[in-house]
Amino acid sequence: MATWKRPDKRRVRAIRDRLREIYGLPVNRPHGHPIAELIKTVLSQHTNDRNRDRAFAALRERFPSWEEVRDAPLPELEEAIRPGGLAQQKAPRIQAILEQLGDPPDLDWMEAAPREESLEYLLALPGVGRKTAACVLIFTWDIPEIPVDVHVHRVGSRLGLFPEKASFDKAHDLMLEIVPPEDAYELHVNLIRHGRTICRPKPRCGECELRRMCPWYRENRAGRRAADAGSGTAGSIPAAS
Ligand code: SF4
Repeated sequence: MATWKRPDKRRVRAIRDRLREIYGLPVNRPHGHPIAELIKTVLSQHTNDRNRDRAFAALRERFPSWEEVRDAPLPELEEAIRPGGLAQQKAPRIQAILEQLGDPPDLDWMEAAPREESLEYLLALPGVGRKTAACVLIFTWDIPEIPVDVHVHRVGSRLGLFPEKASFDKAHDLMLEIVPPEDAYELHVNLIRHGRTICRPKPRCGECELRRMCPWYRENRAGRRAADAGSGTAGSIPAAS
């Protein structure tokens, strides 16, 4: 986008409402298991939800406690999480993280800790970035966070919620500034749903109900369609692709 203007509250609400009409109102069900969420997020890297869940289930079945995961022979741990892919990288990372969580490993203290303290602690763990830390806080205790994954980043930037070239961390900061805490989970989930179905890397703008409020569409599709119509080549750019 040529120039980015920080969206006001009304605009953020309008996007939230339109997404809600399409995808419904998702309800967070915080589960209260921070280490499980943390390890699951490590397992989710570079794979889909189904493989992540298979790897996590196999891990818990083979090593019922976090101490057992931490102390397991590395080849056995790799074998258990193989369905999630990149087992040789993820297994040592999981053990390195667990080694830093005390003995026995514990993160329950975070529920009552100040958010900043929790974030700082999580971000100091090996290989843990903003998205993983945000997942732990919001999915474990419903502490308002907006994990920015590739879908949230793509859809959010096209809708002008943050600049197109913003880093994932910057996008995360901006989303937290412009989205009211009570809408954080909803926007996170519905932006992902929109990114998976319509606003894919190759967007299906012709089917998109957010078209009229989308700066990316105005710049990249609507302008070209108008120009084509003016030069007598209307229809050469498909409405949906
Ligand atoms: S109009 Fe296109 S770019 Fe904009 S949100 Fe919809 S699918 Fe994405």
